[in-house]
Amino acid sequence: MRYNKIRKMDISNGPGVRVSIFMQGCTFNCKNCFNPETHDFAGGTEFTEETINHVLKLCENDYIEGLSILGGEPMHPKNIEGTGRLAKTFKQKFPNKTIWVWTGFLFENLKNSEAVKYIDVLVDGQFVEELHNPLLKWKGSSNQRVIDVQETLTNGKVVEIKD
Ligand code: SF4
Repeated sequence: MRYNKIRKMDISNGPGVRVSIFMQGCTFNCKNCFNPETHDFAGGTEFTEETINHVLKLCENDYIEGLSILGGEPMHPKNIEGTGRLAKTFKQKFPNKTIWVWTGFLFENLKNSEAVKYIDVLVDGQFVEELHNPLLKWKGSSNQRVIDVQETLTNGKVVEIKD
């Protein structure tokens, strides 16, 4: 598994100031994808234990509200184990900080994965150019959902966060 980049301070992907990591590799090929350089699974840099430790170190700062995981496709079968490992380690170390994940897959197809257990918010669904609206918060097109994962798992039905 590989990743594309890490941002030490990200104010556009989730609430507050966050650390973000963009995983490498995606097969969805959404029209006008915002991040085409992340599609090739062979691109970027190898994702290792050292990468996890580096990300966790960056998250130690008090002003960091949480970790955002984007792509590429962090929940692709080739990436989901590493994403889950990062999310689990993060939550063990920072139980009061949040994890947001962006994926082209639907929650319904991910709900039984180990990784989902450690995620606070999942923005799901592919980007659809025809449904693009720049006024939407945290998502690019209106088909996508901003899901409160823990509430959803408790209730057994999808709970969306609405502005
Ligand atoms: S799922 Fe995300 S990274 Fe993959 S093609 Fe669609 S917008 Fe791009």
